[in-house]
Amino acid sequence: MKFTMFNKGLLIVVSGPSGAGKGTICSAYIERNPHAILSVSVTTRKPRVGEKEGVNYFFRDRETFLRMVENGEFLEYAEVYGNYYGTPKKFVEEKLAAGRDVILEIDIQGALQVKERFPEAVFVFIIPPSMEELKRRIVKRGTEDAETIYRRFRSAYEELNYISRYNYVIINDTVESAVAKLEAIVLAEKCRVDRNKELYLELTGRG
Ligand code: 5GP
Repeated sequence: MKFTMFNKGLLIVVSGPSGAGKGTICSAYIERNPHAILSVSVTTRKPRVGEKEGVNYFFRDRETFLRMVENGEFLEYAEVYGNYYGTPKKFVEEKLAAGRDVILEIDIQGALQVKERFPEAVFVFIIPPSMEELKRRIVKRGTEDAETIYRRFRSAYEELNYISRYNYVIINDTVESAVAKLEAIVLAEKCRVDRNKELYLELTGRG
């Protein structure tokens, strides 16, 4: 008897303070696991040097963003550091239905909204190896002014309080080990009995 895999894609939510290395880990993960796809958010933030429309974000003005909110186009949205960010709902739902794993790299407010709508999603929190290292990374990135750097660093401390709302924590010491941990998390989640109900029904002849 051959068993069938019924799985829909897995929704993976990744959060953590800016400078923790979420972006690098998610990109490296996707490269090694092309089955997964990263959701591209809409933002009212101005593009940073090198950022591309439709690749890093969909850059929109406030008015357009708020119209999209009105039209119910977001799975979640939040105001972060004075700008709006939102996850396009249609894209995520279509990819999950097609069996693709979808990664959302979003802030804590957004993650909590997703938790309400998709309790079956996996919530992963990424932290730097130390707060000194976090500060070094934020400063090194050099894309923000001094006030924004200070604001981001201070909110990193507050964000750490929300770690208990997540299912997993990854300490980003090296990209390789962080990606390996994310792969292990996804693999284990896919093997959970409660994610394989149809298989159970098939096994017991109740399908
Ligand atoms: P950045 O401006 O550095 O690209 O992102 C700032 C913060 O916004 C990061 O914590 C990032 O994870 C978060 N973010 C990016 N896209 C979204 C989104 O679609 N929704 C929410 N809630 N947060 C997002």
